[in-house]
Amino acid sequence: MTERSATPLDRARAAYRGISLYQPDRTPCRIDLSDNTNLFGVPPTALSILRAAPENVITRYPLLYADRLKAAIGFYAGVNEDNVVTGCGSDDVLDSTIRAFCDPGSLVATSTPSFAMIPLLAQMNGLDVVEVPLRNDLDIDAEALVAAHAAVTYVCTPNNPTGNAISRESIDYVIDNAAGIVIIDEAYSEFGWDSWLLDAAGLSHVLAVRTLSKAFGLAGLRVGYAVGARELVTEVEKSRGPYKVSSIAEDAATAALTSDLEWVGERVGEVIENRARFIDELRGMGLKPLDSDANFILLPTKDAAETARQMRMKGVAVRPFPALPVTGDALRISIGPWHMMEDALAALGESVR
Ligand code: PMP
Repeated sequence: MTERSATPLDRARAAYRGISLYQPDRTPCRIDLSDNTNLFGVPPTALSILRAAPENVITRYPLLYADRLKAAIGFYAGVNEDNVVTGCGSDDVLDSTIRAFCDPGSLVATSTPSFAMIPLLAQMNGLDVVEVPLRNDLDIDAEALVAAHAAVTYVCTPNNPTGNAISRESIDYVIDNAAGIVIIDEAYSEFGWDSWLLDAAGLSHVLAVRTLSKAFGLAGLRVGYAVGARELVTEVEKSRGPYKVSSIAEDAATAALTSDLEWVGERVGEVIENRARFIDELRGMGLKPLDSDANFILLPTKDAAETARQMRMKGVAVRPFPALPVTGDALRISIGPWHMMEDALAALGESVR
């Protein structure tokens, strides 16, 4: 066999050379307020379905395109099941959507700061990205997003990591004027007050994306979905491929969407109550948290990385965001049961400078 001079990396796709593995600090911590999942537990019917899973759920393949789950989502969202596409988490739905509507070299427009996976997904698919800074009032710069003439324009509302809902006026401007497909990421919309699910089903170029990882407490099962015109969701399904939602995830998610809505609603109510109380307490400490429409708050602070490190040593994990555009250094803190928020306040009081 002749020795080849190329290294394994020489064969790697060129666009991947600048990409590192996604590695936020996930070291286990006594209280984890770093990833905006549901800190109140698992919806009860979903849990009983998981515990009682029959063997064929494990030995046989799942449905190709999760039709049972699509029907449950359609009912929950008030749209036809033909307007729904599912995926392995909404990350998968976002990835498949971006791939479905972009040729290599196409442009994806997003805001900054916003969901950090979007520029990464674009890069992974060989695309270029335009990142438009949020305005000082944290609304999107709708005109600049439209001016990018992107194949896909992404808007996250409520926005991660700032937590605020984007104004309907700005989103409608993007929808009315964007050159290509518009993605509205509603991962946190159960904690806010606005939605584009119904609008998306009736338009020819908009997909509203949601997840069962946040309000529904099923992050470990990886279930996300989008609602849009029938022809669009078919394109996303082509790009996504078959068998992306496991049978066990489909069964539990279907149960949660049909039988656990009261549980989910009560937990969302607790989050909203604790969010207001937590923000009041922070303001009482002389800090300046941003208002939030999500299940987390953003707290601009000096030296976020060091503050997060000190809080972690006290058993509370939060997500540091160094040097964010518009807000500067900040901590993102998930909202959970009040005893967790009390621990966060104590750890923060000792760590913040
Ligand atoms: N969109 C936003 C705005 C998010 O914050 C997240 C989770 N970090 C996701 C999508 C992806 O969630 P999942 O893949 O768990 O559905």
